[in-house]
Amino acid sequence: MRTMDDLLREVWSRAEWEEAVFSAEEIEWADPEQFKLLCHLGFLKETERATWAQCETCGDGHAEEVVWIHNKATGNSEPFVPCPATGGARVSPDRLRRWAIILDAVAKATRHALGLTGNDCVLVPGRVWFLGRRQIAGRYRDIFFLAGAIREDGYQLWDRCRQIEDAPAPVILVPDQAPSPGRAPAFRLAELAILDDGRLSVDLEYLADALRQDRSAAPAKTLTSFQVPPDATWAELRLVVGEHTIVARLRNQEQEFGFEDLGLSGPEDRLWQLLCVFAHGGGRTPAVPSSVSEKNAVNFRKQVSNLRQRLTAVFAIEGDPLVPLRGTGGYRSLFQINMDRRSGFPVQPERWEDCQFAILPDGRIAISIPTREIFAAPNISRETSSRTAQAVAERPSLRTEEYDLRALDLADPMGRPTAEGRVLLEFLRNGGKLTRRGDDMDILRLGRRLEAWMGATGSPFQFAPSRTLWSTRFETR
Ligand SMILES: [Zn+2]
Repeated sequence: MRTMDDLLREVWSRAEWEEAVFSAEEIEWADPEQFKLLCHLGFLKETERATWAQCETCGDGHAEEVVWIHNKATGNSEPFVPCPATGGARVSPDRLRRWAIILDAVAKATRHALGLTGNDCVLVPGRVWFLGRRQIAGRYRDIFFLAGAIREDGYQLWDRCRQIEDAPAPVILVPDQAPSPGRAPAFRLAELAILDDGRLSVDLEYLADALRQDRSAAPAKTLTSFQVPPDATWAELRLVVGEHTIVARLRNQEQEFGFEDLGLSGPEDRLWQLLCVFAHGGGRTPAVPSSVSEKNAVNFRKQVSNLRQRLTAVFAIEGDPLVPLRGTGGYRSLFQINMDRRSGFPVQPERWEDCQFAILPDGRIAISIPTREIFAAPNISRETSSRTAQAVAERPSLRTEEYDLRALDLADPMGRPTAEGRVLLEFLRNGGKLTRRGDDMDILRLGRRLEAWMGATGSPFQFAPSRTLWSTRFETR
């Protein structure tokens, strides 16, 4: 350590250590101005004196535990370094002074230097901090600070911080040693940060450039992005999922996305299927049964996390678009999402028993299911800051869609009901009952058609062999 730059560089290097301290002798070598500044910034703070010191009397350079000897003349205790060869010697108490690196202060200064917003917090004391978020390279990034990532217990830090895994676009900052790659792009403050004009300054341009080129969190294909106003919220976004495309609407904008635009391989892509689950549920996934293995539950969370990353890559809206439904293992979307009317009912019922089918006076069919509507409820609390705008609430409502039989594929282009269409009308006119054989093909075909349309599982009809009577599981009016 000879120059001004070196003390800061040494701070980054030692911040990775379990005991990040400087001795009085080391500080003597440092540039006094820089030392003063690092103390002023709170990065360095005097801590307990050293209990070990090097012997300077014999030239061997061995370290010994410091003994405090009472000086009768002065009435004070004085430190003494024993030596087997020379007997030892007194040392100045100043030589035992030490300064510790205060990582909390480094975290605060880094947050400030990057102009981050959101509620910062300590995730693992002394090791992991959430610094806040901001838009970098076209996306909102959650910035984490991680010290000692390469220490022996470093791998545990990930498991203890679900917040990193759940972040749509996490960025890791480390003092000097980046963790093994893969989880999230990581950057060294040793490379990005300098002391400038009495403050810590972090090279945001460099970070943005590197993140623009980073592909680890994004699919290999180029995504089409949707230009959103900076104050747009997820609740304003509406996605309509069709057979091969998604139509996105936000305020007065509308844009259609194909599989490729979304970085998806096709209808078999797991992220597409997960998106369809949200769409069928009108913005929520079914509860994850407790019988599901931990491994599958983790896989599901991972897929939700991937979908979250993809969505925030396409729609640069601040905050998390998918939030957990407490106590169910499922998730709900803050944006509105439904299936395209042409390919199915917009909301997936949990059970056929929840559905109501009615025949309207003009011969059309009305289908209703109870649902829970999610709506934005801003300013719930004064304590919460940035998340307030995304707070959501739910209210029960009834979702009703009315269909011409042609829209349901149950009539020919002239509007004449098909055999299956006639079966449905008979069911509705007979209070949900119909006397037919158990292997009636029209009923079986109609069952499959309604299953696909509603996105429900299981047949909508039950058969009582003793009476050769079919009945609907859904309510009829
Ligand atoms: Zn000695």
